[in-house]
Amino acid sequence: MSEKKKVIVFTTGGTIAMKFDPKVNGLVPAVSGADLAAAVPGLDKLADVEVREFSNHASCAMTPQKMFQLSQMIEEALKEEGVAGAVVTHGTDTVEETAYMLDILHKSEKPIVLTAAMRGAGDTSPDGPANIYCAVKTAASEEAKGKGVMVLLNEIIHAAGQVRKTHSANPDTFASPWWGPIGYCDVDRVVFRRTPLDRHTYSPKELTARVDIVTGQTGIGRDYIDFAVAQGCKGIVLEGFGRGNLPAIVEPAIKDATDKGV
Ligand code: ASP
Repeated sequence: MSEKKKVIVFTTGGTIAMKFDPKVNGLVPAVSGADLAAAVPGLDKLADVEVREFSNHASCAMTPQKMFQLSQMIEEALKEEGVAGAVVTHGTDTVEETAYMLDILHKSEKPIVLTAAMRGAGDTSPDGPANIYCAVKTAASEEAKGKGVMVLLNEIIHAAGQVRKTHSANPDTFASPWWGPIGYCDVDRVVFRRTPLDRHTYSPKELTARVDIVTGQTGIGRDYIDFAVAQGCKGIVLEGFGRGNLPAIVEPAIKDATDKGV
């Protein structure tokens, strides 16, 4: 039998690590990283798994700074002797954002696979254990090398830069609109049909500048842009309509912001 590869699982929280609490009538963080791995039958046969807890909160509490810190922890771990890849367990709400941040900071060939769950750990038929199983299997696979950062749920592997959550409750929620998934974690193998092209990576020493996002909506005026500038942001991402269109009323605000160096 071939020697088992080592995979490090970083746990951050999310529904995957939550259970129903009747006192709050909702899901609350309840499962430790070690318990999360222990609930996955056969995980020890796939790889030599080590769990490292990063946090245990709903993913709306994730911040760019925490993502940056997580990235640094993962990149250091991937340099450790014998480590084949990393898995991150996360909440589904913002997993696409964390995955993207990890991807633009990731340069090694070793795979990073993020996974999550739509059903809590104590629900009927939780999807977390199977998702963790497939994520570890993929992270340990030769096929995943060089594919960058991926998001895997429901056996489907998506590229970090293309994946989106498309339904707020159904387990079949992750999709890569237009481009499609890149691979599939099958019972006996991990299959890829595409390699994500056009990945960009950066090497910032730290994240310091405030950058705001202003979303276009019909009826938009200049006030959100003025507000962002007044708050001292260094840059604004303006999410326009279609190919980036915004009504003419916004143009003077853009000019005033850029005149100020924003
Ligand atoms: N509230 C959860 C979160 O942490 C949702 C989920 O994980 O599915 O994003």
